[in-house]
Amino acid sequence: MAKNIQAIRGMHDILPDQSRLWQFLEDRVRGVLDGYGYREIRTPVLEQTDLFKRSIGEVTDIVEKEMYSFPDRNGDSLTLRPECTAGCVRAGIEHGLFHNQTQRVWYRGAMFRHERPQKGRYRQFHQIGAEAFGLDGPDIDLEMIFITSRFWRELGLDGLELQLNTLGTSQERAIYRQELAAYLSQHESTLDDESRRRLQTNPLRILDSKNPEMKDLIEGAPALLDNLGGESRAHFEALCGGLDTAGVSYVVNPRLVRGLDYYARTVFEWVTNRLGAQGTVCAGGRYDGLVEQLGGRPTPAVGFAMGVERLISLLEERQSELQLASPHAYIVLMGDEAQAKGPVLAERLRDELPSLRLISHCGGGSFKSQFKKADKSGAHYALVLGDNELAKGVVSVKFLRTADEQQEYDQRALIGFLRSKL
Ligand code: ATP
Ligand code: MG
Repeated sequence: MAKNIQAIRGMHDILPDQSRLWQFLEDRVRGVLDGYGYREIRTPVLEQTDLFKRSIGEVTDIVEKEMYSFPDRNGDSLTLRPECTAGCVRAGIEHGLFHNQTQRVWYRGAMFRHERPQKGRYRQFHQIGAEAFGLDGPDIDLEMIFITSRFWRELGLDGLELQLNTLGTSQERAIYRQELAAYLSQHESTLDDESRRRLQTNPLRILDSKNPEMKDLIEGAPALLDNLGGESRAHFEALCGGLDTAGVSYVVNPRLVRGLDYYARTVFEWVTNRLGAQGTVCAGGRYDGLVEQLGGRPTPAVGFAMGVERLISLLEERQSELQLASPHAYIVLMGDEAQAKGPVLAERLRDELPSLRLISHCGGGSFKSQFKKADKSGAHYALVLGDNELAKGVVSVKFLRTADEQQEYDQRALIGFLRSKL
């Protein structure tokens, strides 16, 4: 017999039992973004490979070893998007969204990176992110952080730590890069192979190394924060001041550089210690150079992206407290006549109560097996229609989650009862 085909390694099904939690997260997050005036943008999952090479940068983990790239049938190199900022910028330039206007957008969807699969790290994973274009002040950076901080409140997630840093301007970074490279060269023997290679091409990336043996070396490196020009310093101080005033706590982490090349000035991450090594649930920052780098007019920009799987893991810890939408009622039907009338009753209830979540039993079976299914569905009430009820012209309501006594209602009273419970 042929072996069953399975999902690709590192790519996961989100099964019906889990999708409620995903929807809960997505609904709350969308509600917050709506409230700040962000509008959704949807871009293709496939883009020209060059888009990512030119935006993310050739000397990055993503472009060097994580992209799903393949030739199209005509030979063009295409890539499954590893992130969505590049696509947003491409779309914005292509459709003239950045000309003399500001844009606040958000996106969600699957991203693809060929990484070593482990908890919190997958090959297909999901991000929800937001980007603001055309604004260069610390006020919009602050807004981004307020939005993310509101997400955690809306989702009931606590214990997340905000880490903040600034990467200065590209000129400031260029000077710092030399200083850092000089420091790292002095300790070249301590560098691992990858870092030794990056010393020439992208020394800042070394600060992002996850190799524990390099921790001390990285701790001792000079900090960009000490080399900032006046404007960058003022920008950073205004951002920190705004957070202080609003009572959002943060720690300044001078080693925070982020994995992508295009950041400038503000960078931030929200981290937790509850997810092991994969503790960053949200990462963002300012990337003023990217629009121009991709061929648009110079346009300041700032944004963030959240790892949905990691947030879902945190939410799972408290899934039982969350009132996730289960059906209100399940119709149990006994006998031929009830089987014929049940669906009509169900449609009537749906007409009257548009927000009612109602499962109408299909497939017959004993009372016992139907009640089992009703219970398993998570419904609060079983609406029972059997010979007895038909004779009396009523529906019996059985309370599946409480000890209340069974009640009989005629159709009008049943609608009233259900309405009072929605
Ligand atoms: P990491 O350092 O964990 O590799 P990154 O710097 O590559 O993260 P970003 O590109 O900034 O991550 O993506 C933003 C967020 O998306 C991350 O903070 C994380 O929550 C999530 N994320 C990134 N890669 C993955 C992945 N392979 N699987 C699951 N979530 C991911
Ligand atoms: Mg990564």
